[in-house]
Amino acid sequence: MRAGFVALVGRPNVGKSTLLNQILGEKLAIATPRPQTTRERLLGVLHRPGLQIGFVDTPGLHRPSGPGRNKLNQYMVDEATQALGNVDVVVLLVEPPEPPRPQPVRPGRKPPPDRGPQPFRIDPALQFVLDEVTAAKRPTVLALNKVDSLRDKRQLLPLLEAFGKLPFVAMVPISAKVGTGVEALLEEIVKLLPEGDALFDEDTLTDRAERWFVTEFIREQVFLLTKREVPYSVAVSVDEFEELAPKQGRGGKKDATAPAPKREVRVSATITVDKEPHKRILVGEGGRMVREIGSRARHELGQRFDAVVHLTLFVRVDEGWASDPRKLRDLGYSE
Ligand code: GDP
Repeated sequence: MRAGFVALVGRPNVGKSTLLNQILGEKLAIATPRPQTTRERLLGVLHRPGLQIGFVDTPGLHRPSGPGRNKLNQYMVDEATQALGNVDVVVLLVEPPEPPRPQPVRPGRKPPPDRGPQPFRIDPALQFVLDEVTAAKRPTVLALNKVDSLRDKRQLLPLLEAFGKLPFVAMVPISAKVGTGVEALLEEIVKLLPEGDALFDEDTLTDRAERWFVTEFIREQVFLLTKREVPYSVAVSVDEFEELAPKQGRGGKKDATAPAPKREVRVSATITVDKEPHKRILVGEGGRMVREIGSRARHELGQRFDAVVHLTLFVRVDEGWASDPRKLRDLGYSE
């Protein structure tokens, strides 16, 4: 059989987590419209007859130092670069640049002629990613993601031309969101995987424990429901994860025809923020925001665990946690 590890890498927000979920056909990774949602590596295993692929979703590759960066940024980039060094194949995701905004046409004037797609420039942030990938010296497939968002497919041509000069094994246009091209991408990956024994048990889907998903799915709601720097100030930790005993029928009698009772878990978790004002935002008026975060996260976790989830959330302030190596470790960001 063919079996191996594949890293999904690229700049923040290019669609790595969305691609992992699309490949596995279920939601494992959190994906939001905001960059740097993913902070840690996540393994998701695809099983098919004669095939096992361990996909490693990674935090976005970005310059880890400079203004506005902290120890957490360094940790995230280290997570991605370490994944690069330990896989059989790299999938580098890129996305088309935003098309220029159409200029308003004055009444009586002719609209400007359509000059067609413009050349694609590799900017310093993307060059940083390309340098990291090149340094890893792994066979690399380029996935041109978000093709569904292109109104004019000719816009792909400058990208293919610019990336065609680089030593990729293949270039595949895809839409991680819709699924277009994902099978073609998998075919390219499979060709590059080593032949050998199975690497995972048949029922292994991920390397992460359920507690980890609790923290991620709560963080996802924080990213979706709060603005500006607030989500970046947040870490989530699980205080308690308790499996509740299945409820028996009335009087303790077992009814053989009744469906098995649904699994129930009781979870309490703490959202740590960097600053007092962020706590006020997260708690919200009369606790409205934290209740909304809890209610949405509970729903998502219920689906992930196929269980009834009882979730209690606390919010606390710990100033400077994202710059303090010891606090980062305490919050779970450590090797
Ligand atoms: P990551 O940071 O690289 O893991 O990116 P995410 O998977 O979190 O995606 C970032 C944003 O891009 C989210 O809002 C996704 O819905 C969106 N996105 C991802 N893939 C596609 C795609 O194929 N098409 C479109 N239109 N949006 C996408």
